[in-house]
Order: sequence, then C-alpha cells, then structure tokens
Amino acid sequence: MTTDLAKIAKERGIKYFLISYTDLFGTQRAKLCPTQAITEMAKNGAGFAGFATWLPMSPADPDVFAIPDAEGLIQLPWKPEVGWLPANIHMAGQEVAYAPRNLLVRLAAEAEKMGYTMKTGVECEFFLLTQDGKGASDPADTQAKSCYDQQALMRRYEVITEICDAMLSLGWKPYQNDHEDANGQFEMNWHYDRALVTADRHSFFKYMTKSIAEKHGMRATFMPKPFLALTGNGCHAHVSIWKGDKNLFEDQKGELGVSQLGYHFIGGLIHNADAICALTNPTINSYKRINAPRTISGATWAPNTVTYTGNNRTHMIRIPEPGRFEFRLADGAANPYLLQIALLVAGLDGIKNQRDPGKRLDINMYTEGHKVRGAKRLPLNLLDAVRGMQKSSLLREKLGDGFVDGYASLRMEDWNHYMRELTQYEKESTMDC
Ligand SMILES: [Mg+2]
Repeated sequence: MTTDLAKIAKERGIKYFLISYTDLFGTQRAKLCPTQAITEMAKNGAGFAGFATWLPMSPADPDVFAIPDAEGLIQLPWKPEVGWLPANIHMAGQEVAYAPRNLLVRLAAEAEKMGYTMKTGVECEFFLLTQDGKGASDPADTQAKSCYDQQALMRRYEVITEICDAMLSLGWKPYQNDHEDANGQFEMNWHYDRALVTADRHSFFKYMTKSIAEKHGMRATFMPKPFLALTGNGCHAHVSIWKGDKNLFEDQKGELGVSQLGYHFIGGLIHNADAICALTNPTINSYKRINAPRTISGATWAPNTVTYTGNNRTHMIRIPEPGRFEFRLADGAANPYLLQIALLVAGLDGIKNQRDPGKRLDINMYTEGHKVRGAKRLPLNLLDAVRGMQKSSLLREKLGDGFVDGYASLRMEDWNHYMRELTQYEKESTMDC
C-alpha cells in the first residue's frame, strides 16, 4: 500500500484527515486536517498541548506531535470524505516512550523478534441509551433475561446493521451481532488479527459506534457498569500466539487442546493479574463490574477471582476450544492499546518463566467459589489496582518507570476526585456513629 496520503486522498475522494492519538485513559484526541496539508503533517505531525489531555505532562512542556501511521488509515464509512489515521506521538524530536500506541508498536516488535505474534479478537459490549444516558433507548427492552432477545435486537436493526455494514466494507470480516445480557446492551463480533491491528480497530469501533448511535439520536456507552442491577460492559479478549502460519497454542495432545506454551502464557496472566488490573479495568466504575453481586438476569458474567477453566464463563480465563483462550477480566473502559500490552507482557512473562497456571477449576465460581482455597482475589477497587501495578517489577521493566509512575499519578488524581465526593450511603451509615 502506498503511504502517499495526498495521492490516496485524491484516489478515494478524501477531503479531510482526522489525525488521532490515544492518551493514557484511552480518549482519542484529534486534529482535522485538510488534504492540502497532509504531506507536511505526515512528515512532522499535528501539534497538541500534551498536558491538556491524559498524559503525564506539564503546561510548560513543548508541543506533542502526532505522526500518523498511514497503514492504519480508515475512511469513515458514514462520512467517506474523512480519513481516520491512528498516530504515534513525539516530543522534542523523540518518541514519547510511555504513549500507549508507541508502546504497543515497540512491544509487539520485540515479541516478533522472539518468534511470537500475538493475535487477538475483542468483544466490545456496549449499551444503546437515550441521549441523556438515563436508560435503554428502547423503552420496550425490559425482559429480566434479555440476552439474545430477537425482538429487541431487531428494534435496533438500523443502528446495528449500519455498524456491521461499515465493518463489512472495511474488510474486518464481522460475523455476528446480538442483544446481550442487559437491557439495551449489544455486542458485535469481527475477526481476530494481530494485536496492533485489533487495537486500532477496537479504537475505531468505539468511535464509530458512538458516532452512528448519535446519528440515530441515541448515546452508545462502553462504561463498565452503567446500571448497578444490570450486567456491565465487558471487553473479553480471545488470545493465541502464532509463529508464521502455526498457532503455538494448539496441541491436540495437550489438556483441552492447548499446548504447554499456551498454559505458561495463561500462568503469566494469573501470576500478574493484580499488576495488570489497573490497565484492563482502569476506572473507579470498573470495580463495580467485577466482584459485583448478582444482577437481575441471574449472573454478572464478570470474574471475581484469578482462576481458569474449560468452557465455563464464571472464571477469569475460559478455554472454549483448542488453540485459544478467552480473557474475561477486561471491561469497556480499557484503553485498546493498553489492553493488548497487558496481555502480551503478562503472557510472555509466563512463557519466559514457565509459569504454572495451577489447577483448572471446573466449577461454577459464582456458587462454589467459596469452597476454593488459596485462589487469588482481584483488586477490590482502583486504588488497590494502581498500587498493584506500581509494585510490579515486570511492568516497570517492560513499560518503563515513565509509564508506571505517570499512569499511576493520573489515576490517583481520578481517585482523589472520587474521594472528595460525599455519598448518600456514607451519610446514612455514619450519621449516627
Ligand atoms: Mg458478551
């Protein structure tokens, strides 16, 4: 593919490029540039004040320049005169080492050198809400068990098929769409790919879904737990490691058709779960999805403990079939790049150190979990998760102190804002102390 963006623009009728980078909290920041300026922008980048976004910078720092990756270009299916370009950021002539996309590019390249290509597919659950975000956009969507509700799915046919048609036109190979477990909740699946490709598509999917929902007078949210009594938005990831055309996780002689290398990778995720939780479950609200009580539908579908199993959805890791596993911990707030980084770094640590994932548990963790002795618990809140990340020598080594300390300081700001709220529960439970 040519990387001459001016030429591509002319061929495809693109009038504007959206040069977009993703900050540490997963927010996409962009400049809209006319094609006349794209050759210069592609070379030197679009300028931003980094401190104005979720980056650990000061107002005195020089400009950040977002240099687009032409290979990641996506022409907006609902507005074809605009081309979206994911970008890596630079400051003072250097790559910003802790920026999420920059980091994933570097870590995926390091893994390639070791002979490992991580491929993933993500399941981005979301709600279609009224514009004010107060409830499901569909007032008739009220069933207690609303999963796969055909009637409710088809009442949102226009929105869902506009997004699915867009993915078809982009060549993502989407293959199914459904109504999920909560009222107003949906999921759309497309084919897995290399980690960076999936991360770019995951970012674009969130942008596209919100944009198309807005066009239809609704609000799409990926918030982990927008309604306490309903199932939250997970972002399950299906993971395998490849060498060329060979899936290294597949072994017909292995337990459940998974190789020793695959079990070591799972062992790495189990060993490092408390360290990566601040990345996979990054918000205060995330901890109301995991460790949560039963929902109206009967289950939260989110894990509470650091355990793995076969084809059983009550654990952190599920092995649904030979050659891959599903990581069920992450939620809709996970930064698409940091999610891939968490999987890659923790999993490769497992391979390198031949980590033992322990015994597979073939039990219903929601009802029998209390019988299990010694299983690690997930952090109970964002503060514990951030502290777990800060203590991780693996994350410090692989992501750098700049990332760990910078990310921790921004998340602590968030936590401190939260702690300045006085809740009704506190008043009621403490007034008569
Ligand atoms: Mg789902």
